[in-house]
Amino acid sequence: MADIVIKTIDGKSTSLSSGALDALRGGLRGGLSLPGEAGYDEARTIWNAMIDKRPAAVVRAVGASDVIQTVRLAAQHGLLLSVRGGGHNIAGNAVCDGGLMLDLSRMGSVRVDPQARTARVEPGARLADLDKETQAFGLATPLGINSTTGVAGLTLGGGFGWLSRKYGLTVDNLLAADVVTAAGDLVRASETDQPDLFWAIRGGGGNFGVVTSFEFRLHPVGPQVIAGLIVHPFSAAREVLREYRALVAKAPDELCCWAVMRKAPPLPFLPPEVHGTEVLVLALCHAGDLAAGAEAAAPFRAIGKRIADVVGPAPYAGWQTAFDPLLTPGERNYWKSHDFVEVADGLIDALLDAVRRLPSPQCEIFIGHLGGAMNRVPVEATAYPHRNVEFVMNVHTRWSHPSEDTRCVGWARTLYDAAAPFATGGVYVNFMPDDEAQRVRAGAYGPNYDRLARVKAKYDPKNLFRMNQNVAPAATT
Ligand SMILES: Cc1cc2nc3c(=O)[nH]c(=O)nc-3n(C[C@H](O)[C@H](O)[C@H](O)COP(=O)(O)OP(=O)(O)OC[C@H]3O[C@@H](n4cnc5c(N)ncnc54)[C@H](O)[C@@H]3O)c2cc1C
Repeated sequence: MADIVIKTIDGKSTSLSSGALDALRGGLRGGLSLPGEAGYDEARTIWNAMIDKRPAAVVRAVGASDVIQTVRLAAQHGLLLSVRGGGHNIAGNAVCDGGLMLDLSRMGSVRVDPQARTARVEPGARLADLDKETQAFGLATPLGINSTTGVAGLTLGGGFGWLSRKYGLTVDNLLAADVVTAAGDLVRASETDQPDLFWAIRGGGGNFGVVTSFEFRLHPVGPQVIAGLIVHPFSAAREVLREYRALVAKAPDELCCWAVMRKAPPLPFLPPEVHGTEVLVLALCHAGDLAAGAEAAAPFRAIGKRIADVVGPAPYAGWQTAFDPLLTPGERNYWKSHDFVEVADGLIDALLDAVRRLPSPQCEIFIGHLGGAMNRVPVEATAYPHRNVEFVMNVHTRWSHPSEDTRCVGWARTLYDAAAPFATGGVYVNFMPDDEAQRVRAGAYGPNYDRLARVKAKYDPKNLFRMNQNVAPAATT
């Protein structure tokens, strides 16, 4: 093997000798892939096709030992280091140009303890891996709505989905984690072990170390739940959204209902003449008893004149995959996001105006329904600070050809600006694209930023873990 040139965290480059590379390769249980070698392109290809970065080398880890060796090498030489879990983050920080990439996607095991109602999860696991294993015992923990998302990145940013109003954020169900710090030491983080680190990784992203194992609390869920879609014509969207906001204000914690606006995909239960036209979709899930779920869903099903209504008993693990066909990897994507405490009339105006100008058939606007249990956790209890937010908007711009980049990104930014007067100013760190570094302090972390910066200074004073929505280490005296 020859020497390679590799980027460093100070923006320069260094040479890694063939001897150092041989030693690394020989020590790994997984593998080392250089450009052109097997596994290299697979590792650097992530969900968002806008991201096309070329690391100088990729470690494809299969265990904590591989992670420790990689972090120690990066720390020793000051190498630019990126960490990939499921590879779904919109900003694409899982991959770095010219540096060392640590790919955890082969570490996908999940072990459930049904008696203790806990699960141990490796950082390459996808949501579907965790859901399938936990649902074998009628258990689950709150996760996101797209089953191919990585558990690791989702958890480290906070994590919410259909179960969060009932059982809290994913991080509210995190019991412990094994973390490889910037010094290359593996430590356990929990309420009693390194509690400052445990606080920081519950929302602070990948800033503090590489998590090699997560331990989650589980809850009885399903296996059947009441879930499904209710589709309305766009012409009725204003009235439906007004009724929607009145109903969600009274909804029990078990019920979560997101509003999605887009052009109708050719779903088999939609009449052909509706395909390709703008629609408003209410997507709901009730995480409780089936009879109570049917009752809670009834008022949502009674809104207006529906084009289609496919709400009914469904396997929870299946419902978790419902949006997968619309969110496949390989397309170009750009997101803008705001948090809200209410769906104001002015916000509805902004949304409807944007839906009239959707720049591609794949674009959609999600209004995620939050609140409930996740908002009964104090702001300072975890790094995730947005405990007053009832709704999150994700402007999900999605298209196929680079020639459409400017138009599609411009559409998202226009809606973002129009919706800003009605927003809290906060933003969910996992929905931030790669051009929003200026939102990290006040938007993503607000009152918790300074404490995060102090924990960063303790565990990663040189900012080795900087390929993320970065928290700079607090200055130490
Ligand atoms: C289609 C789609 C739907 C989504 N829906 C939801 C949703 O419903 N709810 C929700 O909460 N979020 C949702 N998200 C956002 C999602 O939570 C983030 O994209 C998350 O970062 C994905 O995690 P990942 O491991 O797949 O990503 P990656 O890109 O692999 O990782 C993201 C970042 O996390 C850090 N990281 C990853 N693994 C580790 C580790 N083991 N140790 C330390 N740092 C690590 C790194 O900094 C990395 O850059 C969705 C994303 C997509 C693309």
